[in-house]
Amino acid sequence: MFEYAPAPESRSVVDLKPSYGLFIDGKFVDPADGGSFKSINPASEEVLAEIAEGGAQDVDRAVRAARKAYDKVWGPMPGRDRAKYLFRIARIIQERSRELAVLESLDNGKPIKESRDVDLPLVAAHFFYYAGWADKLEYAGFGRRPTSQHSGAYPQPLGVAAQVIPWNFPLLMLAWKIAPALAAGNTVVLKPAETTPLTALLFAEICQQADLPAGVVNIVTGAGETGRALVEHADVDKVAFTGSTDVGRAIARAVAGSRKKLTLELGGKAANIVFDDAPVDQAVEGIVNGIFFNQGHVCCAGSRLLVQESVAEQVLESLKRRMAQLRLGDPLDKNTDIGAINSAAQLSRIRELTEAGAAEGAQQWSPPCELPERGFWFAPTIFTGVTQAHRIAREEIFGPVLSVLTFRTPAEAVEKANNTPYGLSAGIWTEKGSRILWTADRLRAGVVWANTFNKFDPTSPFGGYKESGYGREGGRHGLEAYLNV
Ligand code: NAP
Ligand code: MG
Repeated sequence: MFEYAPAPESRSVVDLKPSYGLFIDGKFVDPADGGSFKSINPASEEVLAEIAEGGAQDVDRAVRAARKAYDKVWGPMPGRDRAKYLFRIARIIQERSRELAVLESLDNGKPIKESRDVDLPLVAAHFFYYAGWADKLEYAGFGRRPTSQHSGAYPQPLGVAAQVIPWNFPLLMLAWKIAPALAAGNTVVLKPAETTPLTALLFAEICQQADLPAGVVNIVTGAGETGRALVEHADVDKVAFTGSTDVGRAIARAVAGSRKKLTLELGGKAANIVFDDAPVDQAVEGIVNGIFFNQGHVCCAGSRLLVQESVAEQVLESLKRRMAQLRLGDPLDKNTDIGAINSAAQLSRIRELTEAGAAEGAQQWSPPCELPERGFWFAPTIFTGVTQAHRIAREEIFGPVLSVLTFRTPAEAVEKANNTPYGLSAGIWTEKGSRILWTADRLRAGVVWANTFNKFDPTSPFGGYKESGYGREGGRHGLEAYLNV
């Protein structure tokens, strides 16, 4: 058999500095108390850079800068001028996309194939899309500016937005937060995740390059405490959070009773439903994409496979054959399908839940797969014989681990799919259009994919039901979260 030759992407496009400050009021500054932490490459445990740790005083400085920029510059600026800055940022992102993709893979551990072909194109598309809305807010369906002919409410920005994002799609989550906020006329203070701050800091440099007025975008790096100080700051008008349901709950409690508007994008445990008439090879590609894309660090991952009993054996056989072809290893190798787990902490959560799965009686299977010695790795894994009571069927694993359950009738598939506290996404595989519609109608999930999975587009709203959160990001709906309507 032929072996793959190594095909590494060059790191030389990335100009890493030994240390980074906080980005406040258009400049990189030292944190008030001088604290710092390290960001590492999870594929090698190599230290990439020393990152400033923002405290309450720094958060306060950033919020003041954002307030001043909102009052003096960005709030009063006509939408068509805000649009020019957003288009400029979008173009610079495209121009520097190789650099951003390599840096994202270095800091996060995701395969370059994904950061280059999925994350970065979507990041640029998001800025282009919302740039287009900036001068058309009156036509977004939230009312027109009052004239002598008519009066009433019309869309206005909220003010200063506090935004906290997770590590699984660092730059894409930044784009989902910053692009609509700025288009709508708000200014922002954003805290990236502790393990993946580097592309947000490069984005800060891009804001400088685009001559974005100082204070419109502020990036305060740090851990959970920095995030808490930000969302609890008295002078923010809006909190937007993406992350775990537990932290989301704490944030909802913290802002309750205040004037702050809140949107939460939280966890998921999506069902990927394969009916007996589904094209098996396509469905298997969709199952693999659904759970092994981005090492399964995806909130809308298809982590519960529901397969109709009559085809279960055939689907599992094809799935195992396909999994044996997945290439795990160096994220910067262009042939890599599965990169590193983002952190030691996340790896131990995945291990704990898979051990629970085995202990509760489900059967664990992984293809033969050699794991690199350094770094954090987990082989692609499936569990069969899973029941709805098992922890691996109820809790979000957030790793490359699929739980397989079976069903006999469409009604049973719907019942099982909805039997979860989450409701972010779902997938349906069948040849019959009427069955797609019947099923989608009954699924309590924010996004339902039919005969595909993990497809994203800036024009399409994304968000959850139940414990997956509230509010929508993307599309016209995504503007509403940043407007007083
Ligand atoms: P997490 O622990 O909730 O962290 C998310 C962000 O919140 C990080 O920046 C974190 O800082 C910060 N944070 C932690 N404690 C905080 C507090 N008390 N107040 C304010 N901020 C705080 O979640 P994660 O483990 O990074 O991300 C995985 C979760 O995100 C999964 O459950 C996944 O489903 C969800 N997710 C949802 C979506 C969606 O769109 N629905 C998208 C992606 C991910 P540190 O990094 O320093 O801890
Ligand atoms: Mg890192």
